[in-house]
Amino acid sequence: MTMHFYPYADDEAEVAECGALLGFGGDSTNNWGLVDCRRCLKRKAEIIAAHATQETAIVAQMGDMADYMRAQENSNE
Ligand SMILES: [Zn+2]
Repeated sequence: MTMHFYPYADDEAEVAECGALLGFGGDSTNNWGLVDCRRCLKRKAEIIAAHATQETAIVAQMGDMADYMRAQENSNE
């Protein structure tokens, strides 16, 4: 059984971050300490960077939304 990395533990993952199909002799975890898939480990930095970028983008988007809402509120006064 190979343990692959998958960041969203709550989701029913079908494909691991490395592209391997899960459920057929493979399992996933969001704990890097348990990952023993060599492809996942090789891409570890890349995967972490990709998710950090996504989170930064989401946070930036939320900030834009807050600014927009504030602008709307001000224009109603
Ligand atoms: Zn993997």
